Amino acid sequence: MNVLFPRTRAELFQTLAEPGARVLAGGTDLLVRLRSGRETAAALVSLDKIPELRGISETGGEGLGRGLRLGATTTHTELLAHPLVRARLPMLAQALSELGSPPIRNMGTLGGNTCTASPAGDTLPPLMALGAEVELASARPHGAGTRRLPLAEFITGPGRTALAPGEVLAAVHVPLPGAGWMQHFEKVGRRNALAVAVVSLAALLRTERGGTVAEARLAWGSVGPTVWRCPEAEAVLVGRRLSLTALGEAAAVVRAHVKPMDDVRASADYRRTVAGNLLLRLVAL
Ligand SMILES: Cc1cc2nc3c(=O)[nH]c(=O)nc-3n(C[C@H](O)[C@H](O)[C@H](O)COP(=O)(O)OP(=O)(O)OC[C@H]3O[C@@H](n4cnc5c(N)ncnc54)[C@H](O)[C@@H]3O)c2cc1C
Repeated sequence: MNVLFPRTRAELFQTLAEPGARVLAGGTDLLVRLRSGRETAAALVSLDKIPELRGISETGGEGLGRGLRLGATTTHTELLAHPLVRARLPMLAQALSELGSPPIRNMGTLGGNTCTASPAGDTLPPLMALGAEVELASARPHGAGTRRLPLAEFITGPGRTALAPGEVLAAVHVPLPGAGWMQHFEKVGRRNALAVAVVSLAALLRTERGGTVAEARLAWGSVGPTVWRCPEAEAVLVGRRLSLTALGEAAAVVRAHVKPMDDVRASADYRRTVAGNLLLRLVAL
């Protein structure tokens, strides 16, 4: 099979227009699926040589909220090494540090994790809680060739996204939470290393003086077809301190609303219990 390495945006969209051409980033998902015969491709179009798709830059300032533009082909290792990711997005950094193994993090990219749209994709719960948006690029000239969507609208189901034919994910935009926001990520798997999430939780909480929760954003992985939010549990926490009583009430609401699945890794009952229990950890924040 041919692997093509376009060097400009124009070449990229030209090669992608070939029948059966597929986007290749790190290949850690796609090559596994191609080798197993679950998917096919007539040619692979690598994003590796297109500079505008890689790297991390700051956005906003002067009245606009500060944020980061995370280029789609930035690897998990590169993201983890960035000081602003570590300092300002610790829950994303925690998720990245538990994703796969060092070789997978060296090859795998944020764009690949996002476009695979797995219910167990480790970066997705933190990005969803942070209110990330995706930047999509297509062959249309200049500005008209770019559109932005909330990540929550981009992922439409397990393995499904809103990518139009011929479109690529160019970047993920993440707002940087200001002072007063607390972040937490935890993943439960069947073992400590190289584990697919059985349940994960990303929690982003803004507290006021005295420790009262003013805003809560909770996002679970691996308990539904896509990342799952529970506004009812968020509402239980708002206006309260992060006591075991408040968290226990929120955990009960989670268990009542979540609809997880049985699979080879865990039963639905186990997932339901753990999805609630993970909230209790927030007492330590
Ligand atoms: C041993 C092993 C362990 C793993 N462990 C984990 C884990 O713990 N947690 C986890 O979340 N994942 C895990 N994965 C899955 C995988 O490594 C990640 O999802 C990774 O981030 C995929 O990125 P990639 O660059 O390799 O994507 P690729 O395999 O190159 O691409 C994946 C899919 O996305 C499409 N695509 C990629 N980039 C773009 C783009 N910019 N625009 C449009 N489409 C695009 C491709 O066409 C393909 O369909 C594991 C995989 C392996 C093999």
